[in-house]
Amino acid sequence: MSALRRFVGAAPPVAAPVEKCEMCGADVSPEHGHVADVEHRSIMCACRPCYLLFTRDDSGKYRAVPDRYVPVSITLAEWQGLGIPVSTVFFLRSDSGLAAFYPSPAGATECLLDLDAWAALAAAHPTVASARPEVEAILVRASDQAVECYLVPIDACYQLVGTVRMYWKGFDGGQEATDRISEFFADVRSRAGA
Ligand SMILES: [Zn+2]
Ligand SMILES: [Zn+2]
Repeated sequence: MSALRRFVGAAPPVAAPVEKCEMCGADVSPEHGHVADVEHRSIMCACRPCYLLFTRDDSGKYRAVPDRYVPVSITLAEWQGLGIPVSTVFFLRSDSGLAAFYPSPAGATECLLDLDAWAALAAAHPTVASARPEVEAILVRASDQAVECYLVPIDACYQLVGTVRMYWKGFDGGQEATDRISEFFADVRSRAGA
């Protein structure tokens, strides 16, 4: 079973079991890296040697997921210019184009994106333009008063999608979903040094 399906379908285990490299079967540490299978849109746990096989390729079927988290200081006006109807969204460039997704109880759901507004945002913020296709995403969380934005590894987005699927209840998500999403963003913020 792919790790993507695990992220999407189940809660993260409280005490992680010993995990195996999904490429060669070796044991991996809890802090192991991930390799994206671009064809199947899935993420595999990888030992260090397997991970390193795929760090330099931006065109192959398998690509190592980078581990950097970078804050991006976009303005509220820039965010509003994108015309995104939800408050939490991630943008992913794939080999077939750019798409915006938001986490919903049904999983990652695509929403429409104004490509001109996006191009202006990417021109103003080199970090946004630097996200590597298929393996890095631009993650935004906004309210009417504030916006936070980060470049994150794609596995972080899948983790968020899994959290929303698991805990969202009713119309507004409920307290537990709200708390878990806040925890997720606190973790992203600290990894990004923001
Ligand atoms: Zn391996
Ligand atoms: Zn893993």
